[in-house]
Amino acid sequence: MRPLLLLTLATPMLAQQPIYDILLRNGHVMDPANRRNGRMDVAIIGNKIARVAPDLPAASARVVVDAGQYYVTPGLIDIHTHIDAQGAWLNVNPDHNCLPSGVTTAADAGSSGHKNFENFKRRVIDRSQTRVLAFLNIVGAGMYGAVEQDVSEMDPEAAARMIAKHPGVIIGIKTAHFKPPSWEAVDRAVKAGTLANVPVMVDFHPGDKYPELVLEHMRPGDIDTHFYGRLTPQLDAGKKMQPYVMAARKRGVLFDVGHGSGSFWFRIAVPAIQQGFLPDTISTDLHKNSIMLPRANMITTMSKFLNIGMTLEQVIARSTAGPAKAIRRPELGTLSEGAVADIAVIAVERGKFAYLDSGHGKLTGDRRLRCVLTVRNGRVVWDSEGLSLTDVSRAGPYSNFK
Ligand SMILES: [Zn+2]
Repeated sequence: MRPLLLLTLATPMLAQQPIYDILLRNGHVMDPANRRNGRMDVAIIGNKIARVAPDLPAASARVVVDAGQYYVTPGLIDIHTHIDAQGAWLNVNPDHNCLPSGVTTAADAGSSGHKNFENFKRRVIDRSQTRVLAFLNIVGAGMYGAVEQDVSEMDPEAAARMIAKHPGVIIGIKTAHFKPPSWEAVDRAVKAGTLANVPVMVDFHPGDKYPELVLEHMRPGDIDTHFYGRLTPQLDAGKKMQPYVMAARKRGVLFDVGHGSGSFWFRIAVPAIQQGFLPDTISTDLHKNSIMLPRANMITTMSKFLNIGMTLEQVIARSTAGPAKAIRRPELGTLSEGAVADIAVIAVERGKFAYLDSGHGKLTGDRRLRCVLTVRNGRVVWDSEGLSLTDVSRAGPYSNFK
């Protein structure tokens, strides 16, 4: 009689257990925002992360993913992209280029300004599975109008009004590609950033006046992108880090990668990182040219930093919690219970791998990161190994398909 009694007692407890929609089992969870770094299960109910703990009951999940060979991280955040559903000009489709890299949140960096942001929102943001956010260009027509050098097109009040209309979607201001030797573009962008209470991302290269940019014009929390590029005077002739860069970091200026097709050089990044100057945020400057020869998608860009010598945890932190903090969206880039279920499952492959930078340089490394599965808003949207699927020999009748 004894076993029967146990069964009777156990049945109601089992019935009370929650039903998980997806259970990522036994992966190495790396969640820097919550200081998690170890083997755990991640359970999803609906579009939320329900539980993160070891040994969750697999029988309570509709879909069980064996993540034993992989790292499970928050969905990656790429804060410097140029995206467009139609592939206009240099911009690329967000879902095709972000989700396979594990990127669940991508910020477009100034492709649109206050005059054309709402068109961008309708055509791209509202139709993408990727969470698309935007740095609004201080130039009214953004990068589309061929008016990036025209100061009269830079209206801080109009930009701030557009940000107030779309809080949480427009997460910053961008100033870029301004050529004249004046501070007008940066100062107007900072004015808009102050009016709207958002950070400014700066792509401006004033040569030997660079210290003035990062020490005086930019505010704490503003983001200098393309940091490891040739146009940023971050190293002296002997490849030593310039002291003003350290001073700028100390006052709170953030330094972003923004790889792109011209702005990431191993000849700069290797000595800078060897001297301890890690980026605050890893980002791609994703566009039609940067995704080709330099392979500046997110997961490859992260692989480059891993092979330069950063630890995997440092790389993941600067692709999740770091960018979430920079864009002031700390509820993103985390596997906190209750957070939106945006998750990347990442393989660390060992072998001999070549990486190209944007300065015609090659670095050969022994590890490669590959995103094998991406969950966005509680749904599997990328699964290169079929981890979430049933083997075809056990898939049952056609009517099972949904
Ligand atoms: Zn860019």
